[in-house]
Amino acid sequence: MSDCTHDCSSCSSNCDSRDKKSFIKPLHELSRVKKVVAVASGKGGVGKSLVTSLLAVRAAARGLRVAVLDADITGPSIPKTFGVNERARGAEGEIYPVRSKSGIQMMSMNNLLEHDDDPVVWRGTLIAGAAVQFWTDVVWDEVDIMFIDMPPGTGDVPLTVFQSIPLSGIVIVTTPQELVEMIVKKAVNMAKMMNVPVLGLAENMSYFECPDCGKRHEIFGASKAEALCKAYGIPACARIPIDPAVARLADAGRIEEADTDALAEVFREIEKSREIKDYLKD
Ligand code: ADP
Repeated sequence: MSDCTHDCSSCSSNCDSRDKKSFIKPLHELSRVKKVVAVASGKGGVGKSLVTSLLAVRAAARGLRVAVLDADITGPSIPKTFGVNERARGAEGEIYPVRSKSGIQMMSMNNLLEHDDDPVVWRGTLIAGAAVQFWTDVVWDEVDIMFIDMPPGTGDVPLTVFQSIPLSGIVIVTTPQELVEMIVKKAVNMAKMMNVPVLGLAENMSYFECPDCGKRHEIFGASKAEALCKAYGIPACARIPIDPAVARLADAGRIEEADTDALAEVFREIEKSREIKDYLKD
């Protein structure tokens, strides 16, 4: 290991005096953001973007000024879920977020691509760089709470995003059939290493409620949510049902009409979470 140079921004030594915040990048000087909550998952396709969107919708319904940063650069789905097809506008050194019908600010790779179905065939460093630029170069206008739709997994790209943006907390999204215990353990350990609290666990596709008899069927296996929250000291636990209506609303770009009650407990915990203003420029 190399010797400490007393300048954490350029030194590679991992000594005790390393400033844990030193990788954190500043916001654009015209941006204001009070809280940032990352929504993370062990793999793609478990409903991370859906949970991010529903949390944003709930926050907006509570009267908060809300933003969504879509850091899932290779699988961006946030603008489509909100029915936003606009391209983002930019001036020199700054990009302006687009807004949903209810005024939620958002920035996603899909707001920059010429065609929604253009693939992003970039290497990891470029992908992580783009996600971090959504934090540093976008002019976020007076945001009370920002949700980040993280790249899936615990690899290089999510790690860079985690290290570069000051977080109030993390919400983990899983499904019952995943290797869920291992994934939750990894996410909890990563959060601990970065000194960021895990605020909640959302078990998506947890059950299906029969519309005829009201009986709950655990299609992907028995729920592990409560047990995992208890085992890892995660304060809020949500079970989100498989709901064809919510899938239809997401597909139609009308997620702002969806019911967000399943996330009430997780959202209460988010409201209590710390503000990040001490990390930011005035
Ligand atoms: P991820 O962001 O983890 O890749 P998405 O949020 O994009 O996953 O979800 C994948 C697909 O599954 C989307 O079409 C979404 O609308 C659908 N989906 C997710 N959760 C549910 C649910 N609870 N009920 C019905 N459809 C769902």
